[in-house]
Amino acid sequence: MRDYLKFYIDGAWVDPITPKTAEVINPATEAVSGHISLGSPADVDKAVAAARRAFATWSVTSIKERADLLEAILAEYLRRERELGEAVTEEMGAPLSLGCGFHTMLGKGHISTALEVLKNYKFEEQHGATMIRKEPIGVCGLITPWNWPMNQTCVKIAPALATGCTMILKPPQLAPYSAQILAEILHDAGTPAGVFNMVQGQGSVIGTALSTHQDVDMISFTGSEPVGVQITKDAADTVKRVGLELGGKSAWVVLDDASMTTNVAGATGGMMGNSGQTCSAGSRLLVPAARMDEAIAAATEAANGVTVGDPTGNFAMGPVVSKAQYNIIQDYIQKGIDEGATLIAGGLGSPEGIDKGWFVRPTVFVGNNQMVIAREEIFGPVLVMIGYADLDDAVAIANDSNFGLGGYVSGEDLEASRDISRRLRTGAVWVNGGFDFGAPFGGYKRSGNGREWGEHGFTEYLEIKAVVGWSAG
Ligand code: NAD
Repeated sequence: MRDYLKFYIDGAWVDPITPKTAEVINPATEAVSGHISLGSPADVDKAVAAARRAFATWSVTSIKERADLLEAILAEYLRRERELGEAVTEEMGAPLSLGCGFHTMLGKGHISTALEVLKNYKFEEQHGATMIRKEPIGVCGLITPWNWPMNQTCVKIAPALATGCTMILKPPQLAPYSAQILAEILHDAGTPAGVFNMVQGQGSVIGTALSTHQDVDMISFTGSEPVGVQITKDAADTVKRVGLELGGKSAWVVLDDASMTTNVAGATGGMMGNSGQTCSAGSRLLVPAARMDEAIAAATEAANGVTVGDPTGNFAMGPVVSKAQYNIIQDYIQKGIDEGATLIAGGLGSPEGIDKGWFVRPTVFVGNNQMVIAREEIFGPVLVMIGYADLDDAVAIANDSNFGLGGYVSGEDLEASRDISRRLRTGAVWVNGGFDFGAPFGGYKRSGNGREWGEHGFTEYLEIKAVVGWSAG
């Protein structure tokens, strides 16, 4: 049982001003796995005041001082990596191999990338007689979701620290454990008091207190579109910068020259990873209509081959995060059936033999792009396959979405694949796979307005100042 009842404010673990706790449920067992405190606006006020005080000194530290801190954080993170991974598994249900693998690897990658970017970052650049300075924006509110907790937390904290900002982290209520350990890591690494603060609690309380706070300069938010819209409205009165990383309904285009079996199987397996709870998941799989039979065979086999079970055991897929999320996904599966999509794998209910925990069957539909299951983010292991007539049709289907987060192209012809990548209205396109910590990550359209990861992630936390007349003449 984990009881994480204190907040981290001004370099110390402190009690909430008004004690109030909430249970944390293990999604694999439905048992209470621990408790957290739910903070109040008064706790946020304390944390913001600490961050404001610390900003005076942290914002003028040297690159070397900040790089030294990031190095110390990285060392401490590595020392506790296994513990972080186990916490991720317990809080949100990712299989241990994923929790202690890709989940923690992403956090580590963002810290080390920020460290490398920082070492060579030009905070001052002269243009003629004018000096253009990039200065830390100030006190930042970092609001994160539960689906890739270490990824989303570290991708904000590392560049915020590197640029000289101070911050208050508000972790997701459903997945609070790994953030608590991360706060311990930052403390043990020697983060100066007030530079990093953490208050746990409800989004509608702690998140709103941050978004509306007079003394918070910027909000970096990753989460759902409706909450992103609400935060933008809440932040408007104080004219804060708001960085939004929201949802997606990304298309994966398999070209006619590609192996249908390999690529459809890969895309199907990819969709089921992390129980489909990935913002950039390729949840619409576009295949040549003439080869739909081959694609159906490959997707069915791949989905049926995904093992589902106890995340501490040897299974490919664990539960989804909560009962509420399970019910939302079940409703979408029912909706797909009702609107006439063809169910080729999975379906309603839990996998056979599982009667505890929020486990969903890896599900694949064949449908069209007007169906609700192709338009809305389901955030579960549900894939929709759609046939396209030609490449123009594939691009039109892919772009016919309110979202614009990711896109995928699988094809032998690199020029054709590149051409599609140029035509997709999305913040990122992955051509035949690949992975790059330096590649900016963010969305077009309703997928958001920010860009995180690598050097671009620094921009979110920087103001630009022109000093005209820096040099004479
Ligand atoms: P969510 O929007 O419900 O919650 C995200 C965070 O916002 C949580 O910490 C929550 O407590 C807080 N929050 C809730 N209401 C708030 C309010 N009124 N004001 C301020 N904060 C508030 O999202 P979720 O269910 O935790 O995460 C899933 C969503 O996140 C999906 O839509 C997914 O696509 C998206 N996501 C996007 C990215 C990206 O980089 N674009 C990455 C991961 C997840």
